[in-house]
Amino acid sequence: MDKKELLERVSADGVKFISYQFTDVVGSVKSVDSPVERLRETLDRGVWFDGSSVEGFTRIQESDMHLRIDPDTYAVLPWSPPEFRRARVICDIYSPDGEPFAGDPRGLLKRKLEEVRKNGYSFMLGPQPEFFLFRHNDSNSINPVPHDVGGYFDFSPCDKAIRVRTELMSALSNMGLQVELGHHEVALGQHEIDFKYDEALRAADNVLTLKYTVKAIAAQHNLIASFMPKPVSGIFGSGMHVHQSLLNEKNENIFFDAKNEFKLSTKANEFIAGQLKHARALSAIVSPSVNSYKRLVPGKEAPVYIGWAQTNRSALIRIPRYTPGMHQETRIEFRLPDPSCNPYLAFAAILAAGMDGINSKLTVPNPLNNINIYDLTAKERAKMKIGSLPGSLGEALSELEKSTFLKSVMGEYLFEAYLRAKWAEWNDYQMHVTDWEVNRYLEIA
Ligand code: GLN
Ligand code: MG
Ligand code: MG
Repeated sequence: MDKKELLERVSADGVKFISYQFTDVVGSVKSVDSPVERLRETLDRGVWFDGSSVEGFTRIQESDMHLRIDPDTYAVLPWSPPEFRRARVICDIYSPDGEPFAGDPRGLLKRKLEEVRKNGYSFMLGPQPEFFLFRHNDSNSINPVPHDVGGYFDFSPCDKAIRVRTELMSALSNMGLQVELGHHEVALGQHEIDFKYDEALRAADNVLTLKYTVKAIAAQHNLIASFMPKPVSGIFGSGMHVHQSLLNEKNENIFFDAKNEFKLSTKANEFIAGQLKHARALSAIVSPSVNSYKRLVPGKEAPVYIGWAQTNRSALIRIPRYTPGMHQETRIEFRLPDPSCNPYLAFAAILAAGMDGINSKLTVPNPLNNINIYDLTAKERAKMKIGSLPGSLGEALSELEKSTFLKSVMGEYLFEAYLRAKWAEWNDYQMHVTDWEVNRYLEIA
């Protein structure tokens, strides 16, 4: 969309305010808002803002930041009332000297996509974010409860969940996402909405859109939507599996090979090998919260060990079954990410890890078909050379810190800023005494 088309759309949609959006290093959405009358000028000149209070942007001498609009990301926010009709555009961040800002995660993903495009590839992604809908227990408590647990409520609980999810899917379609499937997930109160795969930048924009739209619309129903990886002990957590493929200049899927047993090309095998090789360090980026590691436990269809397989849901990488004739759909499902990650950083990092496999022609280990990896003993895993993912955010951060590979992928600025923010989160947690500890030790100790 060019500037003229954008101005026409805004006026036809009756938009009154524009939110100029970007994310900080950890993925929180930031928004600078202004009346629509200023849009024409902003399209030419961008928006200046003080970046010093944004996570990861804190170098005082670089506090003036400049946002430039990506007009293709225009979308009306469907929950804004007509009299204050609001639209958003996602922006790229520039330093005062006019250079792309090294701390901009979206800018990083764009550069990585540009690099692979030079080799003739486009990186296509279908993320599958899972989330819970909760409701307040009573007026004094915000203790979350899955909202479709029968018996807790005086309305037909399943109807309510389906009604909200249908409204969500319709809102997302209006915002330009090609919604494919909405369904209830394994756990009570858990849902998933999948949208059509797209080039990685658009897919990351779509993840942002989905997350805040789901939250805004749920709030209109007095529900809390949460993308927290493991909000309730003992049941399944929420992941964000990512289905990946690489297309060549003729738009052919280069992961497909008719002659291979699993219909996977050599490049697909190398790509898998690269992601397995870097999995422990990637974990700090794609499973980036203290809480992420409560999801990555045995028996809950989330990965714990480092291996790949066809259709096996206990594996870190799964190859969905090949349907004859559908070779364009050949894809590699990376199951480690959860929706608390910054999608721009996550997608840039998994792309780089896969490409490292291709560039270094890595050999993939044997697939773990027909094995429940959760059931293997430590000895069996050692014999089969199956490594483990980090067991905590602290362990993952130590891995990331050691990864010269991811440091070069992210660039020093973003790498350091990210580690600083995440170590602070981990150290804060380490100093906190939890309810579990009090219940367990207070009286017996
Ligand atoms: N919720 C599971 C996870 O944490 C995935 C379940 C599924 O999609 N089959 O990854
Ligand atoms: Mg799922
Ligand atoms: Mg999946």
